Amino acid sequence: MNISVIGAGQMGNGIAHVFAQSGHKVTLIDIAQAGLDKGMATIAKNLDRQVAKGALNEEQKAATLKNITTITDMAAGVKAAELVVEAATENVDLKLRIFRDLDANAPSGCILATNTSSISITRIAAATKRSGNVIGMHFMNPVPVMKLVEVIRGYDTTDAVTKTVVDLSTAIGKVPVTVNDYAGFIANRILMPMINESIEALFQGVGGVAEIDAIMKLGMAHPMGPLQLADFIGLDTCLAILRVLHEGFGNPKYAPCPLLVQMVTAGKLGVKSGEGFYQYTAGSKEQVVAPSFRR
Ligand code: NAD
Repeated sequence: MNISVIGAGQMGNGIAHVFAQSGHKVTLIDIAQAGLDKGMATIAKNLDRQVAKGALNEEQKAATLKNITTITDMAAGVKAAELVVEAATENVDLKLRIFRDLDANAPSGCILATNTSSISITRIAAATKRSGNVIGMHFMNPVPVMKLVEVIRGYDTTDAVTKTVVDLSTAIGKVPVTVNDYAGFIANRILMPMINESIEALFQGVGGVAEIDAIMKLGMAHPMGPLQLADFIGLDTCLAILRVLHEGFGNPKYAPCPLLVQMVTAGKLGVKSGEGFYQYTAGSKEQVVAPSFRR
């Protein structure tokens, strides 16, 4: 299949990676060449890790990289696409603009999927003249490792398009789970209030970063504490999702904690900026150095 992926950030490069590894031809699109170069470097590094673990051999790694081409011109990059998976920044206006452009430039039968964490699929679909062909394809981070694809049906999404996306997800080794389109779907409707409440507990001084994360890891058998998970997801992304839940349901229980708003305003976005609730040494996601926010 010819698949175009919009956005070469942490999700986009992972999505390109898994499709290319399964033999699909992938065109990876971003606004700047620097973003594409960084995305390709991440894919190469992650493939090296798979080779080192014995999950892949050198030929498979080379074949995967050969299946990916990069381009900054979106119109040209989707001309031959059978499926587009959009994984650009979580911003409603940006996504609506991208989907209007995709509708104008992708072939008429092409499926337009979005990896949005929370924005209404129905709203994104309404920006196009092919709402039946628009669907949510919500991969989890890190994409090459995580099995789940939350498949979200918008109001108009057809059975045929849903089946194609479910079958494709299964074929690339993922486990698709289909849900309906309400703010946050299932994954983030449940995860984000938990993260927000953890930040609220920190904000109120109930516990420090280490205490909150330790309690959720040891007490609930979570592999990672909620504050560290927020750093990995990106605090800007967490804030954007909470705003969508807040607006979508009109319920104050989803209001983002002021500390989260403050940290994003200060540019503390978690792993991607080098500092969030923890500090991260350059280029390493594994090394948590020290809690950076203490009461
Ligand atoms: P990111 O900030 O790492 O990457 C976003 C990329 O989009 C950047 O490279 C940026 O240059 C690019 N971009 C912005 N505008 C563009 C445009 N007009 N055309 C092409 N590229 C453009 O963000 P991310 O974490 O990869 O998130 C991407 C999407 O995936 C968001 O919708 C997010 O909600 C969703 N998502 C994120 C996670 C996560 O854990 N981070 C998990 C699931 C889904």
